[in-house]
Amino acid sequence: MRRFWLQFQHLASNLLAAGLILCALVGSAASAGEKPGIVAPPLREVPKDRAIELRVLYLEDPRLPMLNAAQRKELLGKVEQLLQRWYGYRASLREVGHLNLAEYFTTHAGVFRKHPEIVKMALNPDRAIDRGRLRAVIKKALAPHPLAIIEGQLHAGKLESHEQAATLAYDVFLQRLRELRSIPLPDGSTLADPMRPELNSYMHWCALTHEMTEADLVFTNSMIVGADMEMGLTIISRGGVTAGNANANPHNAFQSAVVVTMFPFLSDAPFWLRERGPIPEAERLDVIATLTMHELGHMLLRTDHPVGHPSSCVYAPAVRLRYYDWHVDIRKNGLCPLPHRKLTSY
Ligand SMILES: [Zn+2]
Ligand SMILES: [Zn+2]
Repeated sequence: MRRFWLQFQHLASNLLAAGLILCALVGSAASAGEKPGIVAPPLREVPKDRAIELRVLYLEDPRLPMLNAAQRKELLGKVEQLLQRWYGYRASLREVGHLNLAEYFTTHAGVFRKHPEIVKMALNPDRAIDRGRLRAVIKKALAPHPLAIIEGQLHAGKLESHEQAATLAYDVFLQRLRELRSIPLPDGSTLADPMRPELNSYMHWCALTHEMTEADLVFTNSMIVGADMEMGLTIISRGGVTAGNANANPHNAFQSAVVVTMFPFLSDAPFWLRERGPIPEAERLDVIATLTMHELGHMLLRTDHPVGHPSSCVYAPAVRLRYYDWHVDIRKNGLCPLPHRKLTSY
């Protein structure tokens, strides 16, 4: 959850495009020039007094480590149990499709044509003009944070000033991003396919989850990694990794749809062993289930990211790429007892 839509709708220069999005939210034939008015119903916690069903879509890149049908069933069962135990929902997760990732993006190309204003917020660090934008995004993202917090997130040494922090963050970001995109695969290719950059693009996934009608929750064995105009400190310090995301969705019963990416948990490439640490084989699905619960907190309980909560809070994002430590902390300590602020928008 990165508050993309809220930020976007507040950009005065994009009022016309914002009107288009609001049309989508209303699901009516309102004209593109209309002012933002009464749109989607206000976000309220999804009620717990009746059983819910989440439709699950699994999108697979056959070049990457995969989950077989039995493992996926086990994963869905684990999430169902946690939804009952932690959040109090009687939920069933039903797989409605198992499709090829690249083909899915191809057949949904119309979504990207419909939302050019989203897609153009992706940055390509190979282009000089986007590198300039990236520096500005990083500088702005770091500005509100004290140096001690930035040090903890970047994990790249002592910082003297915000200016130095921004320069260092830019270098760290690009280095981690390059390493991630070039993770070698058994077939001789790399994680990022230069011919299909959209498959790993946060902005493209935002558009897809916003327009998705056939499912509420997507699992993919791929990952979201790249640069974009909306990154905050957490994403920058990870080298552009968004492991999971909850976005607005005007078409389904929850006003929200979620994607959970699994490559960060299924891969044991040297990069992951160094930055994330090993994950015991028997716990891989549990780590994925913990991340899924974080995203479903956004989707069902409407929880926002808390400020100043302990690292064992499931509603707080993992620091850097230490997803396994984060998961262990959460499972050891149980649900965070502190109050959690609610989202009013995705
Ligand atoms: Zn989140
Ligand atoms: Zn908390």
